[in-house]
Amino acid sequence: MTALSDTKKNCRGGISSTDASLQGVIDSHCHLDFKQFNKDRDAVLDRAKEAGLIHMINSGVDYSTNAKSLELARKYDFMSATLGLSPNTLESIKEPELEMLFKQIEENAGQAVGIGEAGLDYYHCKDAPGRQAQAKVFKKVIEMARTLGKPLVIHSRDAEQPALEMVKHLDKVVFHCYSGSIATMKEAIDRGFYISLATNTCRSPHHQILARNVSLDRLLVETDSPFLSPRGGRNEPSMVIDSVRLIARIRGLEPQEIARITAENTKRIYNI
Ligand SMILES: [Zn+2]
Repeated sequence: MTALSDTKKNCRGGISSTDASLQGVIDSHCHLDFKQFNKDRDAVLDRAKEAGLIHMINSGVDYSTNAKSLELARKYDFMSATLGLSPNTLESIKEPELEMLFKQIEENAGQAVGIGEAGLDYYHCKDAPGRQAQAKVFKKVIEMARTLGKPLVIHSRDAEQPALEMVKHLDKVVFHCYSGSIATMKEAIDRGFYISLATNTCRSPHHQILARNVSLDRLLVETDSPFLSPRGGRNEPSMVIDSVRLIARIRGLEPQEIARITAENTKRIYNI
């Protein structure tokens, strides 16, 4: 079976005007505060609405993106914020700034729907001291999410299993842009955690296998805009419908059904 070429056809098909339009779609993870959207943010939001999106969750990765995520959530009722500290920003952060960041997350958690993204990135960080530093910070963020009673948004790359080991005592966890093994995914789902598949599913046979095996009642969809475009170039929330359509085809369901299920799951875990 030519899974990938089928998929490409399907993804392009997702933007055809002859397809029935979708309603009630949620992009559960994006970065619309990033500079890539400075010139046309409003047009991007308009296109998202035209594509059938009703909500977007903007995730902070450091102090300034947390502040901007909160600003977006205040400005638009169809946006929510999560406040985080990506493992990939750690190298450039010094101890006093780190404290400021923890304080920012704690003080503003009431206006956020989740804590993260935070986690472990073994793809970008290969050395043991760097990985230990990531784990130390992640542990602190995990405890903040627990005490604040908020869902934790995990960024894990080549580190899904170690990340899972660290969060087993939590109730509310989302693996954002999950890319790990089926076994770890199933273990996470058995714990009641959520798996968010990004739009790179349209281009990745591995993610298509995950889409085939994931429990639908634990599935979220996201773009991770401006990254991971299903169509090449900059990604934006409207393109989440490409993976909604593809996942529907993989699972033998109507796209609207996948849109409905993933939106309900997103509302449930983030209490929105
Ligand atoms: Zn992200």
